[in-house]
Amino acid sequence: MKFFVNSNCIGCGMCEGICPAVFHMTDEGVAKAIDTEADPTMEGLAQEAMAGCPVGAIEEA
Ligand code: SF4
Repeated sequence: MKFFVNSNCIGCGMCEGICPAVFHMTDEGVAKAIDTEADPTMEGLAQEAMAGCPVGAIEEA
């Protein structure tokens, strides 16, 4: 499963806090997902971050 952060991101940092294996904050102050498939063992946490994002900025790519 791959993830994508869209332009709704407000840079709250929550997703990185929950699943740093998939999400990281950029120098622009927004989140970015890794370009590759998420490690299967991390998908649960990544989906938790997707569900918890306050602005719905995380999508399945
Ligand atoms: S949780 Fe959502 S708004 Fe917050 S940094 Fe991640 S993608 Fe952006």
